[in-house]
Amino acid sequence: MVTRINGIAASDGVGIAPVYLLTKPNLSFEKYHISDAPAEKARLHHAFDEIVSELAKLKDRLTGKLSDDDLAIFDTHIAILNDPEMIKQVENRITNQRLNAESAFAEVISKMVKTLQAMTGNEYMQERATDFQNIQDQVLAKLEGKELPNLRSLDHPVVVVAHSIGPSDTSQMDARFVKGIVTDLGGRTSHAAIMARSLQIPAIVGCSNITERVDNGDQLIVDGFAGTAIIAPTPDEVKKYQRVAQRFAKTRQQWQQMIDQPSVTADGHRYKIAANIGSSADIPAVNENGADGVGLFRTEFLYMKSDHLPTEEEQFVAYRHAVEQLAGKRLVVRTLDIGGDKPLKFMPLPKEMNPFLGYRAIRIALDRPAMFRTQIRALIRASAYGDISIMFPMITTLEELLAAKKIYFEEQRKLAADHPHIGENIRLGMMIEVPLAALNADRLAAEVDFFSIGTNDLIQYCFAADRGNDSVSYLYQPLNPTFLQLIKHIIDAGHAHETTVAMCGEMAGDRYALPLLIGMGLDVYSMSASSILRTRSMMKELDRHKCEQLYQTAISACDTMPEVKELVKQWLLEG
Ligand code: PEP
Ligand code: MG
Repeated sequence: MVTRINGIAASDGVGIAPVYLLTKPNLSFEKYHISDAPAEKARLHHAFDEIVSELAKLKDRLTGKLSDDDLAIFDTHIAILNDPEMIKQVENRITNQRLNAESAFAEVISKMVKTLQAMTGNEYMQERATDFQNIQDQVLAKLEGKELPNLRSLDHPVVVVAHSIGPSDTSQMDARFVKGIVTDLGGRTSHAAIMARSLQIPAIVGCSNITERVDNGDQLIVDGFAGTAIIAPTPDEVKKYQRVAQRFAKTRQQWQQMIDQPSVTADGHRYKIAANIGSSADIPAVNENGADGVGLFRTEFLYMKSDHLPTEEEQFVAYRHAVEQLAGKRLVVRTLDIGGDKPLKFMPLPKEMNPFLGYRAIRIALDRPAMFRTQIRALIRASAYGDISIMFPMITTLEELLAAKKIYFEEQRKLAADHPHIGENIRLGMMIEVPLAALNADRLAAEVDFFSIGTNDLIQYCFAADRGNDSVSYLYQPLNPTFLQLIKHIIDAGHAHETTVAMCGEMAGDRYALPLLIGMGLDVYSMSASSILRTRSMMKELDRHKCEQLYQTAISACDTMPEVKELVKQWLLEG
């Protein structure tokens, strides 16, 4: 029977493919005594052999696609399975205690994990503990004849269905095979949604319990425009959505004509439309979408992917590679923004009751200056190879900004001792994503070359609504008139100090927000690369003066977000 589930439309497009459930099966097992120990040992070794051979094949397939560091994980897992000491301990339990393979193996591995976890403070051992747990899952699944999901092993089209998707999952997704993403949890500005947009994968988030309503292999349509997932569609429905997908592909082709065009309004006002990226691997898409530069490089993925604190040299290479690929266009790099929903493998952070209100971003950077200084030095060195700007995330107070700037200038002076003029072309900026910083924009503007408004967090904090929680997603209100006035206040404060004002939150790529933002005087619009050409073709039709009037009407005649949205919709229709 056809079932429709509504969620939050998170990434445009239509995807039609069988479901691939990204949920771990239940791996619980019974402990029992066996009578035939040799047969039980053979069962265990058969499971080990199959896993080793699968890992080796997967490694072969991914060689050349993943970095050597990423590939090393396969060797680590194979080495664990071949460890003679571990094998001996499991076999002894089977032979002497007559335990079944599952419990003998789980007992040995759990003991090892506990020993490793007890070595707190030793990052290497903590990582090994995670490796052992991962192997335990693989072996138990094999013994129980169950499949563990593994995004890296995908080789056919699927729609990924998951309870939630973290940045580590999206970083393993291959857009050739992932035709859609649907999750139980998440809001429009959760990282899963942002990544789906940048990979141009149709996505729906906040679908409450879809993981319980589908099975692997079920046919699923993802309507990323409306936010509707259709389970087991009829052939007619499939045809209808294939037509929608074709039309969208055609529209995308028309947008392609804007690729070498300037970002300009009908009455000749020029702006910059830039891209948000998570790594230098995203830059080909930035160039293919004709971006005027990169307005937000989220450097945390560089740290999150790594199993150690990235060295100055590693970071320098990454930033240099990124800016060189941009061939003269500007790269705005945001310093490390971890904490909140973005953990690091090599630096476990304390569990917090309210991580989004806790130890994150610039707060961590100023608390651990050695790590921050390493990043700043790498960036200053990379600035010799292109146009780099640096911005600080989550600045709340003036003191934080001044402390971050002080560190920046100290490192710049040190580097300049050997390389005169290094870093002199760098523009320094800050994100405005905390309400106090927005209110204090006047004072802060005097201290920076540019602001970049992070509306994802600014809305979360202004409306006191967790950006990843679908139960409160109705409070994601970029078009709320009071919020619009706050944005206008930031833009005016910036301009009063000749500070450029950019926006890199998702609002910058929102089609209904665009005329209002032009009307408010925003200078730079930074968004998922996939939204750039659509925005540029829309901008070409707009008149700045009329946009100013539209903004004035929105804040004077409307009291709520739905009213503003309706006003803009009608205004766009009337042209
Ligand atoms: C924002 O908060 O708007 C932003 C761009 O930063 P992030 O989404 O990475 O928190
Ligand atoms: Mg943010």
